[in-house]
Amino acid sequence: MAYGPRPVEENYWRTTVTADAAPKYQSLDGPVRCDTVVVGGGYTGLCAALYLAEAGVDVVVLEAEEPGWGASGRNGGFCCLGGAALDDRALRRRYGEADAHAFSSAKRQAVDLVDGLLDRLGIDADVHSEGETILAHRASDVAGLRQTARAMQADQNVRCEFHSAAEMAEQGLASPEFHGALTIPIGFALNPLKYALGLARAAASAGVRLFANARVLGITRHGAEWCLSTADGRVQAKRLLMATNGYSADDLPNWMAGRYLPVQSNILVTRPLTDAEIAAQGWTSAQMCYDTRRLLHYFRLMPDRRMLFGLRGAVRASDAALAETRAMARADFDRIFPAWRHVETPYFWSGLVAMARDRTPFAGPIPGLENAFAAMCYHGNGVAMGTYAGTIMAELALGRAVERPFPEFMRRPLARFPLGRYRRLLLPAAYSWYRFLDSR
Ligand SMILES: Cc1cc2nc3c(=O)[nH]c(=O)nc-3n(C[C@H](O)[C@H](O)[C@H](O)COP(=O)(O)OP(=O)(O)OC[C@H]3O[C@@H](n4cnc5c(N)ncnc54)[C@H](O)[C@@H]3O)c2cc1C
Repeated sequence: MAYGPRPVEENYWRTTVTADAAPKYQSLDGPVRCDTVVVGGGYTGLCAALYLAEAGVDVVVLEAEEPGWGASGRNGGFCCLGGAALDDRALRRRYGEADAHAFSSAKRQAVDLVDGLLDRLGIDADVHSEGETILAHRASDVAGLRQTARAMQADQNVRCEFHSAAEMAEQGLASPEFHGALTIPIGFALNPLKYALGLARAAASAGVRLFANARVLGITRHGAEWCLSTADGRVQAKRLLMATNGYSADDLPNWMAGRYLPVQSNILVTRPLTDAEIAAQGWTSAQMCYDTRRLLHYFRLMPDRRMLFGLRGAVRASDAALAETRAMARADFDRIFPAWRHVETPYFWSGLVAMARDRTPFAGPIPGLENAFAAMCYHGNGVAMGTYAGTIMAELALGRAVERPFPEFMRRPLARFPLGRYRRLLLPAAYSWYRFLDSR
């Protein structure tokens, strides 16, 4: 069910775009030849395709549904620092100072890349929020936030602002749940579907041939070419770029088997809040926020006065599981924003992100496959990092030197998870453990 239409039936973003902004792309009937074929029409695939087309390459994008159907058209729109599930300290310990530093620079440049694309391509994506704000969900997390502020200053010369629990209300961040807040002045929030559709439009105008309802069913090698088959067509190409992230399949190509872990993320959106309701809660800030939990909550008051509230933690996809996650989201929302207990939340949906065993993102050649590349596994932080990794994948495919910060660990082939095709069975235990750690 996670791969079908059900989890996205109530996707609020769909109501924010006009038919003009979401044109129907052609379907694939019959054979097509091109230089490079990209599988997946989310940020990763579209940014790779755009980059290549602007470099004069003949590109085809095959998207199983329509551009932005996957996580890119249904996420929380936090364009912020991220991409790995390890913090800077852990990265430094594991991969050394130089690589950790390169990743910090990559994260910042990824945010700038999105900013630059919105500007250059004229995409109006309802941007707001000045950086991101992290909220301590227990008093003992305040020291960690202060430590983050010191590290950001020392390592990257970024000045963060800390607010005590008492100061949070003055900042329009009043909630009984939190014990302090740290604002990192990098990043912004956007309407994720408008960004995805804007990229698709730009790619099409740059000459990319975009096919919708074109699910790739098989990938084979014919001589020096890749041959991709769909239900009604076939594409032959010199180069293959995989950009399927959480919606990947273990046999497309076989190298994928066991190398990514799809995980659900879920979002609740309220009806527009009135000024009186906003004042009653004391949450007037337009900052995008998330808390210090391992199974984190992320939320933001959007320009249209609706509150978006996201959370992780679901391990199954069924009607019952969706209802259960929705109830859990609602209970958490009510606890964090008690003045909004009566406010309806008409939208709830979920989608798949991808995790890597090493907990770092990947962009690089697929080992053992000639002229084949992949970019994926942003650990729920792919607005900026997917844009960045897709662009790097295109540079690699062209044989260009990557001049942007590109840590060694991002190029290392994805390692296999234990349990192979049964790897998802690891999730319930991992989530129970995280929940226990979060509650201490
Ligand atoms: C609910 C939710 C909230 C999130 N919130 C945030 C956030 O606030 N900030 C942030 O940075 N990140 C967030 N993320 C993560 C972010 O959305 C993803 O990391 C990012 O969109 C990944 O982009 P992508 O292009 O790699 O993959 P996707 O956007 O998932 O695109 C993959 C595409 O591949 C297509 N596909 C798969 N198989 C085939 C096939 N065989 N043939 C053809 N096409 C195929 C799929 O249809 C899909 O459209 C969130 C994700 C979810 C689900």
